[in-house]
Formats: sequence, C-alpha cells, structure tokens
Amino acid sequence: MKKFIITANWKLHGNNVLVCHFINKLKSYFDTNQIFSKIIFAPPVIYINNIKNQIQHNNFFIGAQNVDIHFSGAFTGEISIDMLKDIGVTYIIIGHSERRIFHHENNEYIAKKFQMIKSKNLIPILCVGENLQEKNLKQSELICRNQIDAILQLQEEDIFQNSIIAYEPIWAIGTGQTADIKHVNRIHKFIKCYIADNSNIKLKDIIIQYGGSVNFNNIQNFINSEHINGVLLGTASLSFETFINIIHNIDQYCY
Ligand code: PEP
Repeated sequence: MKKFIITANWKLHGNNVLVCHFINKLKSYFDTNQIFSKIIFAPPVIYINNIKNQIQHNNFFIGAQNVDIHFSGAFTGEISIDMLKDIGVTYIIIGHSERRIFHHENNEYIAKKFQMIKSKNLIPILCVGENLQEKNLKQSELICRNQIDAILQLQEEDIFQNSIIAYEPIWAIGTGQTADIKHVNRIHKFIKCYIADNSNIKLKDIIIQYGGSVNFNNIQNFINSEHINGVLLGTASLSFETFINIIHNIDQYCY
C-alpha cells in the first residue's frame, strides 16, 4: 500500500511554548519509534524555521498554510513561494475553505497558485469540498468537479502529477461531524476517476486525503480504505498526545 499521508494544519494556533513542546516530544517519539507514514506539518509560517532546523526525519516534511499569488513585488505582508522554499517548505496548502470564505479566493485564483507552486517544484495540497447546503442538494460531486476543473483548464499535461488533493467537506471541518466513510470513499473515487479521465495521470497515482473532524476515535475508519490516501488534521493536530496516537495507530496498519 502507498504511504499514508498525515497533514497537520495548525491554522492560526500555537505559540513558542507549544512549538517547543511539540519539537521536544516529536524528536523523542521519532527516536524511539519507526515512522511509516509521511507527516506534513503546517504550523503558522513564523515557526517553520525553528521546527525545520530541529526535526530531521525522512518521513517528516514542512508544509505552509498559504502562499501569495505573486513571485515577488510590492505586496506588503505577503510571503512568496521562493521564501517558503528558502526555509525548507515542501508542501503548500491552497484552497482551504477558510481562505475561500474569509479571503474570497475563488477557483481561478487558487488554480493560479497551484500552477505557480508546481512551476517552482513544490507540492500543492489542494483542498476541495462542498458546504452543507450543497451536500443536501446532492451537489458534492458537482462542487468538487468545478474546483478540479479550474486546474484542468490550465491545460498543462502533467498538472496533477506530484500533487495532493484534500477532500474537506466544509460541514465537517471543526464541527465534530465527520463525514460518513461511504460518502468519503464515493467522492474520492469520483475525483480520482474524473482527474484520470481528463488528464494524463494514472488513477493509482492520484493522492487524496480526507479532512474534517478526524480524531483518535474515528481515525480507524479512514485507514486501509481503497481511495483514501491520508488525512488532514486540524484540531486533532494541536494536542501532541492526540496527534501522536493517530500517527501510531496509522503506522500499525500502513507500512
Ligand atoms: C481543517 O481545517 O482542514 C480541518 C480538517 O480541521 P478539523 O480537523 O478541526 O476539522
């Protein structure tokens, strides 16, 4: 089986104390345990340097939660792909529903970021997913398809190679209401088939994580499921004990 990928998105949480606690604990966990899954850790950007310098492990990578749409220029407060690359970032989350909602990022804008990230040889983690109303109207596939179409419309042959998709139904994010496994599998399969049918990537090479209220009690549902290649954790990644228990649980089954 492919390596299971665990992404931790800290959002606007954390401080020096929490970061130091995580660094110390993660280091000792990595020293005493074999890690089979791939861990992508996305703290607020200001803490990346410290974490990157202190934790070196083959299966541990640094992610950023966002990036600017420009490579450089007079854009006060923004951070570019090259700057993230400079401090050791490998993955960049884009299209998170919180950015779509609070920062009004639309599909075309996110597609542009996707293309820019690829052009600099970093790996985008593209979040897609429907809101509750859309789910109730049975539009989950339609919404995901529209979000994927914006990337396909870039008409770059290998656009989905070396990228990750995170299916994150908005109604499941931070609500404690995890999506039903059958629903998740159906949507993941749909997305994989759609991308494979409309680009030159093989279905087996498409990687999709599920995100939305994953925690220690429900992680088992998402392991060893044909179309689920990983999970994206928000809340559950903020407690070291929960985070590490999830990694440990996954590593029992995915190696
Ligand atoms: C997220 O925000 O991407 C997320 C999955 O959050 P949570 O795990 O808290 O639902």
